[in-house]
Amino acid sequence: MRRMENLKKVAFYTLGCKLNFSETSTIARSFKDEGFLRVDFNEAADIYVINTCSVTDNADKRFKTIVKHAQKANENAFVIAVGCYAQLKPEELAAVDGVDLVLGATEKFKITNYLNDLSKNEMGEVHSCEITEADFYVGSYSFGDRTRAFLKVQDGCDYKCTYCTIPLARGISRSDELENVLENARKISQDGIKEIVLTGVNIGDYGKGEFGNKKHEHTFLDLVKALDEVEGIERLRISSIEPNLLKNETIDFVAKSKAFVPHFHIPLQSGSNDILKAMRRRYMRELYVDRVQKIREVMPDACIGADVIVGFPGESNEHFLETYNFLNELDISYLHVFTYSERDNTSAAEMTDVVPLKIRKKRSKMLRGLSAKKRRAFYESQLGKTKNVLFEGENKEGYIHGFTENYVKVKTPWDPALVNTLQKIELQKIGEDGLVRFSYVEEQITA
Ligand code: SF4
Repeated sequence: MRRMENLKKVAFYTLGCKLNFSETSTIARSFKDEGFLRVDFNEAADIYVINTCSVTDNADKRFKTIVKHAQKANENAFVIAVGCYAQLKPEELAAVDGVDLVLGATEKFKITNYLNDLSKNEMGEVHSCEITEADFYVGSYSFGDRTRAFLKVQDGCDYKCTYCTIPLARGISRSDELENVLENARKISQDGIKEIVLTGVNIGDYGKGEFGNKKHEHTFLDLVKALDEVEGIERLRISSIEPNLLKNETIDFVAKSKAFVPHFHIPLQSGSNDILKAMRRRYMRELYVDRVQKIREVMPDACIGADVIVGFPGESNEHFLETYNFLNELDISYLHVFTYSERDNTSAAEMTDVVPLKIRKKRSKMLRGLSAKKRRAFYESQLGKTKNVLFEGENKEGYIHGFTENYVKVKTPWDPALVNTLQKIELQKIGEDGLVRFSYVEEQITA
């Protein structure tokens, strides 16, 4: 048996979304299978793997900083870039000082095949592909902390939103086989994890594509129903789902399900139908209102979040006010606000009528203010109610945090015995930090 100190060391850095995090975990497991020891990114490692994102602002600058960071820890280490940015701009990443290898979308899961020679390259070597070749599916899941796991169920996207590079970086929409998803969910539950967050690029599209040579036979609703039956999973969360794919049947099922929690994150992007059309989204604002009303009808306490982009080309003051007023009146709980920024190879980047940066920032600030107001109103509406909270694993300056099933964030003084337990509580008041304080209704309902 090899002694620990003789093992080759590998470290990972992940940029971007939950999907990237789940894929880093899968890549890390393949290193483990090859006998590598995983260490923290700040430590000296033999190999550093950076899983990149193309949505991150200043993606190139951030990437260079991370490479430098790795080199500081070990200047002779072998540095590998994978992920969306590596697929979109492989040559650019390969030219960054210190990078040895860049792997595209088809190669990232075969990373350990590229490790025969770890001597530093003068110039990064690229093993890239046409994104149309990335038509196969690799399942993944990752652990956020000791309480929550991100389970990938779908990859890629067939939509053509005019601002988005994700289809170019991740390819066509394709999904994991139902039995594989269930198997991964069982493994997660056996590890004692209480909450699973479903992840993907466009998860409502689950069931698209083929698996091997077989056509998929399942829909997103089939997936939701089957996951709800997995033993030992206390909570399931649908992370983000396009409004046009969130069907009444799914909402009705979640309302009476055992494990799915009443929390929906539904990208809106704009409250103006003109802008939605220019973005080539697949719905109008009326459909969004209808989705929110349907959820409220069957789950009055549900938490509903929305993504919004401000400063899209052609967004006039009137369009923006339309969005602001629309959101102000809509019964939702928080916003994730994105300031539009041009991405290469998208049709929006070619559009004229560009919104000046200063105005984009101002609009973004206004919507962030609205989001804070919405969140507070939602928390206030929940005071006096009894909920279950799942406590997380981190000691944050002497406090422990947790979320109720409907995503109200609570805090209480740190107590390690609370980590990864579900507690029945009554929500009492909102603290100065905006988080909710509570009293226990029952102690320790799940150990
Ligand atoms: S739905 Fe639109 S924004 Fe979302 S990944 Fe697909 S193309 Fe991009």
